[in-house]
Amino acid sequence: MDASVPGGDPLAPRFRDDTLYVNGSAVAVRWRLDRRARRVRLSVDPREGSVIVTLPLRTARRRGEEFLLQHAGWVAGRIEALPPRVPFRHGASLPVLGRETVICHAPGARRGVWCEAGEIRVSGAGEHLARRVTDWLKRQALAEIGPKAHAMAASLGRKVRRVSVREMRSRWGSCSVKGDLAFCWRLMLAPGWVLDYVIAHEVAHLAHMNHGPRFWRTVQGLVGDIDRPRAWLRRHGNALHRYG
Ligand SMILES: [Zn+2]
Repeated sequence: MDASVPGGDPLAPRFRDDTLYVNGSAVAVRWRLDRRARRVRLSVDPREGSVIVTLPLRTARRRGEEFLLQHAGWVAGRIEALPPRVPFRHGASLPVLGRETVICHAPGARRGVWCEAGEIRVSGAGEHLARRVTDWLKRQALAEIGPKAHAMAASLGRKVRRVSVREMRSRWGSCSVKGDLAFCWRLMLAPGWVLDYVIAHEVAHLAHMNHGPRFWRTVQGLVGDIDRPRAWLRRHGNALHRYG
């Protein structure tokens, strides 16, 4: 199969220069080598709307290109199904802990970023607005998560060493053996009961460094219902990566 025959059907899937052309639109392709992969795998990065081709070691890239072209329709379908992107700009609406909150640029205001009357008001130049909203959400997340994580850990007779909030692409939280917890700031755009579940999940790892039955009983002891937040994350988690 030649990916780039000139003069062919312009709508037929083609591959060239790390770009997949399918149904007339261009999709960025990223390559990943994985020593544990047994075969070529495709996935869609919900944040960038790009396609990731995972190759086992010693598999020719050519094989990946062929596989990609064979599954171009699947890739296009997955990308079309992504929720719309919501860049952080004046007038954009964000579900902060599940409550719709509108970004409002207030260039003349003297304070930094604050929440008032269902609006996130942002002072300063427009070019800094997106970064300042992201920073504000990270600070809010830390203020929300920190005390809850410490209280949940105390109820298990454990101690959190440090809580941090940052960007995470493939998971919502992590717990190190030393007791450091990290969370994805995007959880601030999920309902509060989803955030509480993720906090409980990571805190429960302070007691059980696995996902065994005792671990899940501990999570349940901390937040009660675990099925509903887990289902929410499976269904809507990708959409959180479309903000900002
Ligand atoms: Zn876990």
